[in-house]
Amino acid sequence: MLFSDYHSHPQGHRDQPYDEKLLQPWADSARAAGLRDIALTDHDRYHAGVDFDALDRVRAANPDLAIRAGIELDNDPVTGGLGRAWVEKYWDRLDFVLGSVHYLGEPRMFDSTGEEGQFAGRSVDETYLDYFSRVQRMAESGVVDCLAHLDLVKIHGHRPETDVLVLIEPLLQCIVRLGLAIELSTAGWRKTVREIYPEPKIIRRALELGIPVTTASDAHSHVQLGENFARLGEVMRDCGVREVAIYERHRRTLVPVA
Ligand SMILES: [Zn+2]
Ligand SMILES: [Zn+2]
Repeated sequence: MLFSDYHSHPQGHRDQPYDEKLLQPWADSARAAGLRDIALTDHDRYHAGVDFDALDRVRAANPDLAIRAGIELDNDPVTGGLGRAWVEKYWDRLDFVLGSVHYLGEPRMFDSTGEEGQFAGRSVDETYLDYFSRVQRMAESGVVDCLAHLDLVKIHGHRPETDVLVLIEPLLQCIVRLGLAIELSTAGWRKTVREIYPEPKIIRRALELGIPVTTASDAHSHVQLGENFARLGEVMRDCGVREVAIYERHRRTLVPVA
């Protein structure tokens, strides 16, 4: 039974300051889904809404749950620098920082619906290599604990000619060197690609290399917490994943999963 969800967006895609009214439904949904450890990881561009004192009050009201203070830091060419500065400033109050790549040089997220055009004009292999090198820069930023949706570049269904394991190997080696984790995310199952992030053969290679994993839904509504976790559990069993990483003040603990 999976018990932790380390990717969630209480604010969704707009500024909504943290308070009990916003966060209590997330605690209630976590409990209902059988989760006992969740990380709130709003996009860094909404950092103004993150209120650590409000979060402490919600923690006090829900002592049966571990609720981690987190953020999803991405490579937004406009807000990424400010986001990084905010992460550095509040590093000691944050438990967990996800690193993400949503931008491939254009000012719009490549993973949004209708952004397939960003893939035109070069080979899929080149786009994958570009994406993985940007993820590597995020990994090397020194301010992330874990990398989100590692093969998000597949979201619109583009598949490389070269084996993806060849293309991603340098990134995986970098993750090992830096001692970071990756997430196993059910979010891909609700996208048109209909596939877990990352795909099972990447999970298996990461496991061979000893890379720890978190479990994640990327919930943008509290009802999505723990979404498809039974199915995720099956994939993890198939791949041989036996431990899940949890974080407190960036300190990682590996917890066995049944
Ligand atoms: Zn993301
Ligand atoms: Zn996210």
